[in-house]
Amino acid sequence: MELFKEMEKHGHEQIMFLQDNKVGLKAIIAIHNTVLGPSLGGCRMWDYEKEEDMIIDALRLSKGMTYKSGISNEDYGGGKTVIWGDPNKDKSEGIFRALGKFINTLNGRYSTGTDVGTTYDDFVILRKETPFVGALPKEFGGSGDSSIATSYGVFHGIKASCKYKYGSDDLDGLKVAVQGLGKVGSKLTKRLIEAGCEVYATDINQEYIETGKELGAKIVKPDQIYDVKCDIFSPNALGSVINDQTIERLSCDIIAGAANNVLERHQLADILKDKDILYAPDYVINAGGLIQVADELGVGGYNEERTMKKCEGIYDKLLQIFKIAEQKGITTVDAADHIVEERIAMMKAIHNIRG
Ligand code: NAD
Repeated sequence: MELFKEMEKHGHEQIMFLQDNKVGLKAIIAIHNTVLGPSLGGCRMWDYEKEEDMIIDALRLSKGMTYKSGISNEDYGGGKTVIWGDPNKDKSEGIFRALGKFINTLNGRYSTGTDVGTTYDDFVILRKETPFVGALPKEFGGSGDSSIATSYGVFHGIKASCKYKYGSDDLDGLKVAVQGLGKVGSKLTKRLIEAGCEVYATDINQEYIETGKELGAKIVKPDQIYDVKCDIFSPNALGSVINDQTIERLSCDIIAGAANNVLERHQLADILKDKDILYAPDYVINAGGLIQVADELGVGGYNEERTMKKCEGIYDKLLQIFKIAEQKGITTVDAADHIVEERIAMMKAIHNIRG
């Protein structure tokens, strides 16, 4: 893999490789773009098959964070940490303290929080080494579980998608296939069932399947979720789940969920458009967690009411994107990207004013 070429292709500013053999830390911090502000993005821990997968994940996720902040009008750039390891076996105090030390050397150029494979407890440890961390538990002065805000935003994003597609945002009686019953997927499932949806759900973790059953979801095997005939397919597990194989199996009108980098490659957005499947761009609909952490790190500290109100704004933001895409005959991804790129250009122009 030619790293500089990859960085150039996607516009990354910096990649840091972190290692401490003694504690067993192997991690990457990728910083995509800091025009909008210092970079912000969660920390993922995953047992990657190979080094290249880990690098690609860090690059894609950090770029997504730039766009997520941009579309949410938050003054942050995009960054992400990925730790190489099995979150169920390889965690230790040493790993998170060592990571905290490295993040601290960046002096605010990057702040982090939870993502797939990491929990609040990990960041209470990391906080001992650096203040550049958000979404800490409330008892530690933070804003708490960011998946509450994320799932709330996704729920409103699903409503907006229905409003655009069906002319009504009443979810009663709609059939939804939920992939992933983790922190976000389980909370979203609860909201969807309360709204009258028939939910088919899956996870690879038995414990979360039990949670899904208790919530009233009908459980299907992980690979069967793509074949569920439904109104909405909601990806809430990992990325790249819409790819050349799965896209042919989907039988839905809308794709809307929390997972980052849902599309394995950009061109799949065109195929979805041709198939008349409405795609709610991932970084728009799943911005609730970012909105929460940005609020926590911002002036005056965290305010829950303000954060939830902003998450509700995902509804109007998506409708705006769907309308632009329709008027210009472009994909919803391109419509969202253009809005962010215009914002970045505007902020660049402001930086040129000598202060
Ligand atoms: P999580 O780790 O709590 O949940 C992910 C779930 O997906 C786990 O239960 C896991 O077992 C399951 N899973 C993994 N592979 C699967 C597969 N092939 N089939 C079915 N299930 C599978 O993570 P989370 O915080 O709920 O985040 C879910 C997604 O949303 C991730 O892509 C994350 O990056 C994204 N996201 C989360 C937040 C947040 O605030 N937590 C914010 C924005 C985006």
